Amino acid sequence: MSEFRTAARIAPLVAAMIVAGCATAPSRHGGAPYSASALKLCPGVMISNAPAATGTREILSYTPFAVVRGVRLARAPVEACVSSAYGPRAGGAGSFHEGLDLYTGDPSTVYAGAGGRIKQAGTQRGYGLTIEIDHGAGVTTRYAHLSSLAPQMRAGAAVSGGQPIGRTGRSGNATAVHLHYEILIDGRPKDPLKVSG
Ligand SMILES: [Zn+2]
Repeated sequence: MSEFRTAARIAPLVAAMIVAGCATAPSRHGGAPYSASALKLCPGVMISNAPAATGTREILSYTPFAVVRGVRLARAPVEACVSSAYGPRAGGAGSFHEGLDLYTGDPSTVYAGAGGRIKQAGTQRGYGLTIEIDHGAGVTTRYAHLSSLAPQMRAGAAVSGGQPIGRTGRSGNATAVHLHYEILIDGRPKDPLKVSG
């Protein structure tokens, strides 16, 4: 069978899947919201505020998605391991960490944690190249230390959940390539691994 005929046979199926909002569309993440299905603490890293984990460093009681005020949000919108959790960090000034650090090694694709509208896209002091998405209902997400933004990522643009929005980097005050991810309710950061309701 020719490639053309194969494509012609598949096309109606793909169209049907898109209409149905099927989560198993052909592309890697298929346009469906992405969140790591399981999450580990990075190996060989001392994490002073680490959540409870198994002997193989898999985070206990992790669920990929949170539902906050009716918005279904990815808790980890990039393939990564956790290099720092939300909350107070020991050592130094003992500063409070307002997000989740997801270490990727090399620059990797970051996906929108849920659908919404871009509130801000550009450089922010300390955060480096950053995107903020407004999901409605007072729920926003922030993606910091990026190395690049996907095309059309500018304030006011609509994004769908799972849409690639940029790539991890070490812009701003980052020392390693990672995503600093925040989930905020009414402007206040919450623990991405625990937030609910
Ligand atoms: Zn961070």
